[in-house]
Amino acid sequence: MSKIYQLARNKFPQLLEALKSAGYRCIGPQVRDGAILFDDLESIDQLPAGRQDLQAPGEYRMQEIHSPRYFAWANGPQALKPYLFTPHEVLWKASRDNNVGIKFNEVEPDLQLLALIGVRACDLAALQLQDAHFQECDQPDPYYTKRREQLFLIAVNCTHPADTCFCVSTGDGPRVTTNYDLVLSELDESFLIAAGSERGAAILATLSTTDATPDAIETADTETDLAARRQTRSLPSRNLRDQLFANLHHPHWNDVAERCLSCGNCTSVCPTCFCYSENEQPAMDGNESRHVREWDSCFTHGHSYIHGFVVRPDTASRYRQWLIHKLGSWHDQYGRSGCVGCGRCISWCPTGIDITEEATAVCTVKDND
Ligand code: SF4
Ligand code: SF4
Repeated sequence: MSKIYQLARNKFPQLLEALKSAGYRCIGPQVRDGAILFDDLESIDQLPAGRQDLQAPGEYRMQEIHSPRYFAWANGPQALKPYLFTPHEVLWKASRDNNVGIKFNEVEPDLQLLALIGVRACDLAALQLQDAHFQECDQPDPYYTKRREQLFLIAVNCTHPADTCFCVSTGDGPRVTTNYDLVLSELDESFLIAAGSERGAAILATLSTTDATPDAIETADTETDLAARRQTRSLPSRNLRDQLFANLHHPHWNDVAERCLSCGNCTSVCPTCFCYSENEQPAMDGNESRHVREWDSCFTHGHSYIHGFVVRPDTASRYRQWLIHKLGSWHDQYGRSGCVGCGRCISWCPTGIDITEEATAVCTVKDND
């Protein structure tokens, strides 16, 4: 890591001002509708000071704590995904033209510089996986790629994991190690701050920092180490590929299906899920049509529809598809599991289905078939 500096808490607003002066639209965590959500950040006062999230299977709520800290929480339902792979996007438009018949019109993505404040280690790991899928491939997605180029990432080391977090088990947190422009460690009276890129260093150089004291560095390290030790959930292994494929007919898939609603919440909140559908949306007058991409989920009926046949007609086969792709065949596609241990799918599942428990049940009992 590059040199670590210290920024007094009362100087922290300088960071927001420096980003705005550099032309960035700033996005940061705020309390909205009883959860931590990312939204436009005009003032540091909008950050969730003294707020903490309490998460459990099927549960998420906020509580107030006696602390000046802005980042004393684990995560909310969003990660970075909606800012790069947007839930709804018009890819192109078609219109009638008297000379050429049908004319296709390109739609340019919004190219605003975007600074995201408060990104966690698991979110950065998920971003690397989305990068692998959308831009490090034979046919890079131009919409994703252009937005990615505009992104400035201000990461924060975790000190308050939720009960649902298991990033230690996947190797993705709670300490931020890579893929950021600036990284913060929050203490009661100050922040430690270090640059991870040239543009991060340029912003850092404008702030009223001092060299970080050894005591402050040790305190910050200890807090993140403690956050790692507080995690109680885990997956049985970082590579469950062979065990999952050896258990395609395990009775536990039917057991999960009795609890699963096939609602797709888990895929919506998952920072690595990338499935989408495309459809035409014609105007009422018949003169124009928009070609739209929208998030899809392997839990929907239409996701496995092929030529009059739904390949996965029941919940058991859909849950199996989700888990075996996420924890199994991602290894073939991207060289690692598709889970970064954020725990969102556990908290936001309406019936509290826990990926760590289901994977353990399938992988530690022999296939009956
Ligand atoms: S599968 Fe669940 S815990 Fe893993 S990255 Fe997705 S939402 Fe997070
Ligand atoms: S596992 Fe939970 S969140 Fe996912 S589809 Fe089933 S009920 Fe919905």
